[in-house]
Amino acid sequence: MRKPFIAGNWKMNTDGHSGPELVKAVGQGFTQLDREKVDVAVIPPFVYLAQIVNAAKASRIAVGAQDIFYEQKGAFTGEISANMIKDVGCNYCLCGHSERRHVIGEGDELINKKVHAAINGGLLPILCVGELLEEREAGNTEQVVERQVKKDFAGLSVEKARAVTLAYEPVWAIGTGRTATPQQAQEVHAMIRELLAGLYDKSFADDMRIQYGGSVKPDNAKELMQQQDIDGLLVGGASLKADDFLAIIKASIAA
Ligand code: PEP
Repeated sequence: MRKPFIAGNWKMNTDGHSGPELVKAVGQGFTQLDREKVDVAVIPPFVYLAQIVNAAKASRIAVGAQDIFYEQKGAFTGEISANMIKDVGCNYCLCGHSERRHVIGEGDELINKKVHAAINGGLLPILCVGELLEEREAGNTEQVVERQVKKDFAGLSVEKARAVTLAYEPVWAIGTGRTATPQQAQEVHAMIRELLAGLYDKSFADDMRIQYGGSVKPDNAKELMQQQDIDGLLVGGASLKADDFLAIIKASIAA
């Protein structure tokens, strides 16, 4: 059984006041839920991480970073290492989010280095993959996602690869209000699991948690989570409202 995992990516939102308030409000609701049944993480902007780790202490909400650099330390102005993220009390980091791929311009070679660095630095990477609208419309979804998974996992032993959570996020569904149908999402999740079985082995693939992300809301979360190969949700916009995020967490328990 794969334990559901719901993560809230705050992107470049919140501030020193609203972030702690948000995580505390989620934490209060979360203590009333069955915390054995779901893992929850929030992913705030870098500068607030220590503050959010502190504000989340009373709950069992984990905290992650939105990105890392692949070197441990040195002359890399503006960058943050996995060790630093770990040092402030985080467990997770995103790697290869679509906004980093398509707004900042990160490619799979760089993302692969970040995945290695995250694991070597003691973090659990949430590795995001997903196709653009034109790639889906051209019938290339499977090809694109397969290429990303293969390149982003390159060189990872099975032991190390077990630290990864995958997030399938079709780029056309992120922040657009246009969710993939549960069937569309399930199809890609099943394809990814089969691919992982080939890259590693079946038991590895069976254990891997694969989140769906892309305009997840309280009213579509349950149906998405009912799909056989959807094990969690990566939530952007709706994670900025405590009630919505809690409703999504509850829906994942009920699914
Ligand atoms: C995301 O940021 O990964 C995301 C899925 O955003 P949204 O839920 O707003 O589409």
